[in-house]
Amino acid sequence: MERTFAIIKPDAVERNLIGKILERIESNGFKIAGMKKTQLSQKEAKGFYYVHKERPFFDSLTEFMCSGPVVLLVLEKENAITAWRDLMGATNPEDAKEGTIRKDFALSIEKNSTHGSDSAENAAYEVSYFFSETEIL
Ligand code: ATP
Ligand code: MG
Repeated sequence: MERTFAIIKPDAVERNLIGKILERIESNGFKIAGMKKTQLSQKEAKGFYYVHKERPFFDSLTEFMCSGPVVLLVLEKENAITAWRDLMGATNPEDAKEGTIRKDFALSIEKNSTHGSDSAENAAYEVSYFFSETEIL
């Protein structure tokens, strides 16, 4: 069983899409092992997206991620990292395949409704950034 880290981003929470996104997660065989609703501080968002700090979209992205509540998730499944990225679809909703979360719900390349870890190393880092082991069940 592999673990990955997911976020339901502010654009999706604002449009009342938490339930629809969780339904896709559960019906695709993921176990929700950890879950919390919170609003990120600038400091948390900047630390979380540290790898992107040189990218031109960094300031806009971190501001967006703090703009409203988010849902933080620890997901478990075999090959969870790849499976969750497949279910989300491409970063840019214009490139995302039919039936993916970003195709169906994302507003733009930035307001793209969900986050998913991109490697085992980053998944472990991202889970531990927001969750302690006792919060993962
Ligand atoms: P995430 O890490 O959120 O799962 P991703 O791995 O598909 O998304 P990254 O390249 O890691 O994409 O970019 C992180 C986030 O930064 C994207 O999800 C999106 O919200 C934002 N982003 C990426 N590229 C752009 C861009 N060209 N313009 C604006 N925002 C962008
Ligand atoms: Mg990424």
